Amino acid sequence: MDFEHSEQQQLIRAMVREFAQREVAPIAKAIDKSGEFPLATVKKMAQLGLLGMVVPPEYGGSGTDTVSYAIAIEELSRICASHGVIVSVNNSLACWPILHYGTEEQKQRYLVPMAKGEELGAYALTEPAAGSDAAKQKATAVLDGDSWLLNGNKIFITCGGAAQTYVLFAMTEPAKRYKGITAFIVPRDVDGLTVGTEEEKMGIRATATTEIFLSNVRIPKENVLGEVGQGFKVAMNTLNGGRIGIAAQALGIAQGCLDEAVAYAKVREAFGKTLGQMQAIQWMLADIATDVEVSRLLTYRAAWHEDTGADYIMSSAMAKLFAAEACVTAARKAVQIYGGYGYSKDYPVERFYRDSKITEIYEGTNEIQRVVIAGQLGLR
Ligand SMILES: Cc1cc2nc3c(=O)[nH]c(=O)nc-3n(C[C@H](O)[C@H](O)[C@H](O)COP(=O)(O)OP(=O)(O)OC[C@H]3O[C@@H](n4cnc5c(N)ncnc54)[C@H](O)[C@@H]3O)c2cc1C
Repeated sequence: MDFEHSEQQQLIRAMVREFAQREVAPIAKAIDKSGEFPLATVKKMAQLGLLGMVVPPEYGGSGTDTVSYAIAIEELSRICASHGVIVSVNNSLACWPILHYGTEEQKQRYLVPMAKGEELGAYALTEPAAGSDAAKQKATAVLDGDSWLLNGNKIFITCGGAAQTYVLFAMTEPAKRYKGITAFIVPRDVDGLTVGTEEEKMGIRATATTEIFLSNVRIPKENVLGEVGQGFKVAMNTLNGGRIGIAAQALGIAQGCLDEAVAYAKVREAFGKTLGQMQAIQWMLADIATDVEVSRLLTYRAAWHEDTGADYIMSSAMAKLFAAEACVTAARKAVQIYGGYGYSKDYPVERFYRDSKITEIYEGTNEIQRVVIAGQLGLR
């Protein structure tokens, strides 16, 4: 058993860490405040090959392994969770399903520009009445000659306001419930598609989360992704891998909390000594550090499972569940260690606290991860 990263993985960590410090750190506070989508740094991430890491070079990607991809998201999220999830969504939720279920023509037309980062993708499954129970899709697609006519609306779509292409799910045979769902590749500029205003969110505020409205949107038959009626499988298999990205995001936020809290504990004084000399604070930091390492082990293990062709349904659900809970706890403790200053927007731990919460909600809530894990234990 070998816990060392390869030379390439170490190089990727060093490159992304340096990029995050140089390009992302100076704007992280401002984009959190304004909610502005960070297009300029996203373009720079594209130049570094971060938007198509899991895509082979022949389709415009950088063809790294999943462990490297997790490392990149961890390093970005350590500084800014919005940048972390933008990379995660484009790689895992937009490129991945087209790479695995798309036709050659779909890959050339949609995957190549997304993997290069010339265009962005988003994943549109959730609806106002269909979140955890994703099979309850109300959006419909009806075959009309050589095309499908789509109607309905999607909610909470990360990068919805910035993407040019959506991997979108709709009901093609309602009576069949989850077996009646089909995945479509939907370009943003089609007639009848409207992007809603951006959500005002607690955290990850720079991620252009929007609603998408579909009114008689005509999509050619060639844009069905995978088989008609197989959309639920496409959606769930995509999320199984996506969870590795969110686990890495949670890991990065928690590491950021640890970095900040340790540095502060070394300099802040009370009762004639530094906070870091007090056992109560040492124990909090020791617990965060331990949780960060467990999150790291689980996250890289799930990524390694994907890289080695092993089943990663259970390991990615466990990694996301643990890392998300650890991240929220780490952020709460980091704010506590900062005391009143932790409650102020002048310090990053306040932003980390707000950003941390989403990791327990999207790509399957904590409860849904437990449902997935229990299912893998044979309990249904
Ligand atoms: C900022 C943000 C970004 C998002 N990005 C995307 C995106 O890019 N694409 C996309 O498609 N969706 C996205 N989502 C949607 C997200 O995946 C859903 O919000 C999430 O899956 C939960 O669904 P819901 O909000 O409908 O909650 P509900 O499903 O209504 O759940 C409410 C509560 O009930 C619990 N619950 C539900 N079912 C069970 C059960 N069987 N057992 C135990 N507890 C249960 C849940 O865990 C939760 O605590 C995003 C959401 C947010 C907030």
